Amino acid sequence: MVIKLAIIGGGPGGYAAAFLAADLGLDVTLIDREKNPGGVCLYRGCIPSKALLHVAKLLNETKDAKHMGLDFPEPKINLDRLREWKNEVVGKMTGGLGILSKQRKVNYIQGNASFINSKKLKIEKKNGGTDELSFDKVIIATGSVIASIPSLDIKSKRLLNSTTALDLPEIPKNLLVVGGGYIGLELGSVYKSLGSKVSVVEMMPGLLPGADRDLVSYLAKRIEKSFEKVMLNSRVLEMNEMDKGINVKIKGEDGKEFEEVYDYVLMSIGRKPETKGLGLENTKVKINQRGWIKVNQQLQTDDPDIYAIGDIVGEPMLAHKASHEGRTAVEAIAGHKVAFEPKAIPAVVFTDPEIAWAGITENYAKEKGIDYKVAKFPWAASGRATTLDRSDGVTKIIVNPQTERILGIGICGPSAGELIAEGVLAIEMAANLTDLKLTIHPHPTLSETLMEAAEVFFGQSTHIYRPKRDK
Ligand SMILES: Cc1cc2nc3c(=O)[nH]c(=O)nc-3n(C[C@H](O)[C@H](O)[C@H](O)COP(=O)(O)OP(=O)(O)OC[C@H]3O[C@@H](n4cnc5c(N)ncnc54)[C@H](O)[C@@H]3O)c2cc1C
Repeated sequence: MVIKLAIIGGGPGGYAAAFLAADLGLDVTLIDREKNPGGVCLYRGCIPSKALLHVAKLLNETKDAKHMGLDFPEPKINLDRLREWKNEVVGKMTGGLGILSKQRKVNYIQGNASFINSKKLKIEKKNGGTDELSFDKVIIATGSVIASIPSLDIKSKRLLNSTTALDLPEIPKNLLVVGGGYIGLELGSVYKSLGSKVSVVEMMPGLLPGADRDLVSYLAKRIEKSFEKVMLNSRVLEMNEMDKGINVKIKGEDGKEFEEVYDYVLMSIGRKPETKGLGLENTKVKINQRGWIKVNQQLQTDDPDIYAIGDIVGEPMLAHKASHEGRTAVEAIAGHKVAFEPKAIPAVVFTDPEIAWAGITENYAKEKGIDYKVAKFPWAASGRATTLDRSDGVTKIIVNPQTERILGIGICGPSAGELIAEGVLAIEMAANLTDLKLTIHPHPTLSETLMEAAEVFFGQSTHIYRPKRDK
């Protein structure tokens, strides 16, 4: 008997699940509110933000090239065309997913789904009409939505969130980013490159609170130089719309309150689960205290016919985690013996420089009392980094000192997001530092920094001189 599977939500979790399920011969229905699959990631997350960050990179590189003898004139920014181009990127990707969905004979329904019971869904279709459809299994992949602070949620077009900021309403003269996490810093960097004066306010003592401080320090230095103000240990108390801006009351690090007017404010304080209106009360699905759906290692909820994947099951809220969970859930439904138990889920912050890590962080090792050593290779000693005029980076490896097994990798520098994949493979394959040291890396590339970090551990890095200790 062919299993009838419904998937609610067509983000990177939902569509990856739907496509694999179709490949495995299941009868698949995918329901999402948009015309094509894509979810937050493609419509208003990863893809549009990275398109704009690419533009930011081009702008920064032309500005930074003067000392190499390249003096570019001030760029003219056509905001309408830029917005159009970003939308074309999104259109291409989501349209492509629509085609892949048809090719795989996935029954794609544009509409809103909710549970009548564990096996029956009510689907309100976008083009009118409501269906009640029964399934053997359902996967919830409804993702997350923008979190807000009710007292600061003033109704103003000058108050942006990550979605409206991606629409580039205009280039503000000055912009306040509330929240020093990755989304705020990425979007703040885009606006900075387009010409805005950007300030950031963060409650915690440092930017990117979850990441190791030595990785963040390179980014923090660059941001401190390029942004107007970085306010740490500070919080926004109040916002009021004025004639030509938003008046923001801030409590600073020293405890003193002050007010400043910004053209625009971008709120970027996190995301919350999307379970509203889903009818979970008609099922046995349970949610935890923070609102995330509870699942086991097969991504099965407390209701045996219902699985949940992606942002809706909690941190880390990343597209690649959602896709892998989606594929695991489908295999479990198809009867394969599987579990979602990665050793490393990479995280990338696409700022300039980029920061990426996988496996355990040094912070985590300290917190949990894990015995570890760190091997670090500074990019100042990398030939490739020097040719790129970007010595402001580091590659670090967290190692089990007894077995030399690689437990975690952290990288800061341009293309860190690409480089981290080798670290993820090393961790998943249980590689040790000798494996990495003996793997021939192409020269001159930034990937050599991984090999040389391993060499540092043995005191044998070609490009770092360590005087021998006196006998
Ligand atoms: C600005 C920004 C930048 C980001 N950058 C990155 C990045 O660089 N890398 C990365 O890995 N992650 C990034 N993320 C996070 C990433 O977008 C999410 O982790 C990912 O999209 C989660 O995928 P998902 O499948 O769980 O759900 P989502 O992508 O959230 O998709 C859920 C879908 O379900 C639909 N839906 C919800 N309820 C219903 C319902 N009742 N009926 C029908 N449809 C419903 C929603 O409309 C949505 O289309 C970014 C996020 C933002 C906001």
